[in-house]
Amino acid sequence: MKRLKVKLISYSMLVEKKGGEVRDPDRIVAESGAISHSRDFKDLSKEKVEHLIDLLRQLGHESVFEHVSFTFSVEGISRVCSHQLVRHRMASFTQQSQRYVPLEPEFIIPESIENSEFRDEFYRILNDSRDLYKRMVKSGIKKEDARFILPQAVETKIIVTMNGRELRHFINLRAGKEAQWEIRALAIEMLKLAHEVSPILFDDLYKKFIEGEKTNI
Ligand SMILES: Cc1cc2nc3c(=O)[nH]c(=O)nc-3n(C[C@H](O)[C@H](O)[C@H](O)COP(=O)(O)OP(=O)(O)OC[C@H]3O[C@@H](n4cnc5c(N)ncnc54)[C@H](O)[C@@H]3O)c2cc1C
Repeated sequence: MKRLKVKLISYSMLVEKKGGEVRDPDRIVAESGAISHSRDFKDLSKEKVEHLIDLLRQLGHESVFEHVSFTFSVEGISRVCSHQLVRHRMASFTQQSQRYVPLEPEFIIPESIENSEFRDEFYRILNDSRDLYKRMVKSGIKKEDARFILPQAVETKIIVTMNGRELRHFINLRAGKEAQWEIRALAIEMLKLAHEVSPILFDDLYKKFIEGEKTNI
């Protein structure tokens, strides 16, 4: 996907006992899980963190994963994709407004159409809708009304925050082959970014959806 841009703009930080801060979501999850069974639940070794997260996953004790959160900025997706994304009710969203932002509409084009006999007609209709939108706004029609002419292909921007449990759930539903290609590409980018900062919590999903894919090629 040429236009897709995903950035991890924030994630959970641990305030250390001795002062200072560490950005380590895996440790936050493991220490939160350990509190239920142990008096000494701080300063766990890496092996202990791995063991505890693995155990929590096996037991299905996933509420512990809710103690960490990840915030992504997403650009270059269509309203088709953002509509699927916002169905995830346990996440938080802020989307670019079509009421307030004067748009210079750009569109996401599926490859199947780009490479088909319908390409030119498809582009013509998109360009006509953009042209009419801009003329209507210029003539004084409110943006909130003019936007009705814009197709679902129109590009949008959105900020998404998910806790660790919801992000894992989202990836499980949306990173697999059965998911639609655009949201799948988004879920895979989010998984890569989450795995960089939380390699233990997302280890199983990384193996399943990214390493597994490579070995299937
Ligand atoms: C391949 C695919 C095809 C789809 N096709 C369609 C379709 O044709 N039509 C359509 O409308 N949608 C479709 N969807 C969307 C789907 O139905 C869900 O709305 C979407 O995936 C969000 O999933 P969720 O509800 O599990 O997630 P979230 O809303 O993120 O919720 C996470 C979890 O919290 C719990 N939860 C949240 N809210 C409640 C609640 N009110 N009551 C009880 N438990 C709750 C559930 O355990 C849920 O799994 C599709 C999704 C996928 C992945």
